[in-house]
Amino acid sequence: MKYIFVTGGVVSSLGKGLAAASIGTLLERCGLKVSLQKFDPYLNVDPGTMSPFQHGEVYVLNDGAETDLDLGHYERFVHCNLSRLNNLTSGQVFENVLKKERRGDYLGKTVQYIPHVTDEIKNRLYEVTDKSDVDILITEIGGTVGDMEGHIFLEALRQFALEVGRENVCFIHVTLLPYIKAAGEMKTKPTQQSVAKLREIGIQPDVIICRTEYDMSEEERRKIAMFCNVEARNVIAFRDVKNTIYECPLDLSQDKIDRIVAKILHLDIPSPNLSDWQRYVGRVVSPSHSVRIAVVGKYIALQDAYKSIYESFTHAGAENDARVEIVRIDAEDIEDKGAKEVIGSVDGILVPGGFGDRGIEGKIQAVQYARENNIPFMGICLGMQVAVIEFARSICNMKDANSTEFNKESKHPVICLQEEQKGIENMGATMRLGAYTAIISNKSLAHKLYGKSVISERHRHRYEFNPNFREQIEAAGLKISATNDETGLVEVVELPAHPFFIACQYHPEFQSAPNRAHPLFSGLVAAAMEYKSHRV
Ligand code: GLN
Repeated sequence: MKYIFVTGGVVSSLGKGLAAASIGTLLERCGLKVSLQKFDPYLNVDPGTMSPFQHGEVYVLNDGAETDLDLGHYERFVHCNLSRLNNLTSGQVFENVLKKERRGDYLGKTVQYIPHVTDEIKNRLYEVTDKSDVDILITEIGGTVGDMEGHIFLEALRQFALEVGRENVCFIHVTLLPYIKAAGEMKTKPTQQSVAKLREIGIQPDVIICRTEYDMSEEERRKIAMFCNVEARNVIAFRDVKNTIYECPLDLSQDKIDRIVAKILHLDIPSPNLSDWQRYVGRVVSPSHSVRIAVVGKYIALQDAYKSIYESFTHAGAENDARVEIVRIDAEDIEDKGAKEVIGSVDGILVPGGFGDRGIEGKIQAVQYARENNIPFMGICLGMQVAVIEFARSICNMKDANSTEFNKESKHPVICLQEEQKGIENMGATMRLGAYTAIISNKSLAHKLYGKSVISERHRHRYEFNPNFREQIEAAGLKISATNDETGLVEVVELPAHPFFIACQYHPEFQSAPNRAHPLFSGLVAAAMEYKSHRV
């Protein structure tokens, strides 16, 4: 078993997650079975309780774990099947240690950072690899070297490398080479200092990946190598990609990172076969068509809040030979100016998931605009709930129809809490989470798109389509085209009278990847292209 640890230095947001995922892509294409894992030093047990403004998207796994959005990159870049073991936070570490202490598991010992906390961290590395048949585990450590909260994780890695043998471990440090305009040069000092911090803890990195805006000169490479005590060929440039993040593995392969890692880990592996990835990137970079799709949400200002949705559009665009230009719309803008003014010129509309009532009426107006003007529409989670509310209000004459999340007094609570959700007080990990099976009815748009009747999709929500209103709403023309196989809960609704109007209670964006575009996103993009071609 081999291990790669990816740490970060100088600043955050260097693309450490993308670097880790890209190395995974390359090694997988050298024939290895790869898994990826993230250690997050913050104290939340998981990011499920954090605001998207704090943390970006919460990425949900099949087993219902609410995880860091980097796990989304891992699943998109590598064919790995991740579980809750693949995201460890300080919150989980301390929760486990304190539970053990209360149970008396430590047999009267003083419970200490070393060895008890470090053991807990190391155990997670063994746990992930013991239970799987992977050849190599890539673990990314969140935060920046030098952060107090990350220190204990690095200490655990130092110990771990001793335990499993240094020849089985590769430490990769991702840093920034800032370009100082006035001096006209890139500066290596922050990298030197951040590596010095790592070495203080006892970790000598084997590879340094330098995030740069410009190409790194040979002189700079040699300087970093000398000051950081690594071979010059192991100093790798990680340039800003021109078009798409899917270029990252191709960029890193230019500096032969797969060869370097193979040598460090004593792996005898062939060069990566990147032909399918190259073809995919080619399709993303130079498509023949283009469409504009509005994403009408609440966390629009934030690049990371709808990460998987934006990525899914890239995959779906590549499949349809189209560039998808995403028009980010703040739902409150529609409330202020009206739907026609704000989204009158787009070719498709998507209302994503969300929580809380800010912007809800704007989202409802967006759905109405799509429905009445035959504009391709897709709703996800809250997006499905507002589609049902809009239909109930406009077509079923239930003027005050709403979700009990937003109005507990409504006489027409078409979206409401499930029985099991009532009485739950804790916020963390208490939603309906993870993969559930749904059955799709024949002769539906959903069936046409998926091409099958049984699907498994990931969920993250509390509220549901209220079964008491099902008959009345269906009779008025909103088709329920998929339901949960055991509970009968509504999973997909669609409007047969509309060219493309579909909404799902689950999150399709968590299962879309390059060359594996999700059928719903692909369908929306195709419908938007069709709509655009007919528009005057
Ligand atoms: N707030 C809604 C619910 O809890 C929708 C959640 C979501 O869109 N992820 O059911």
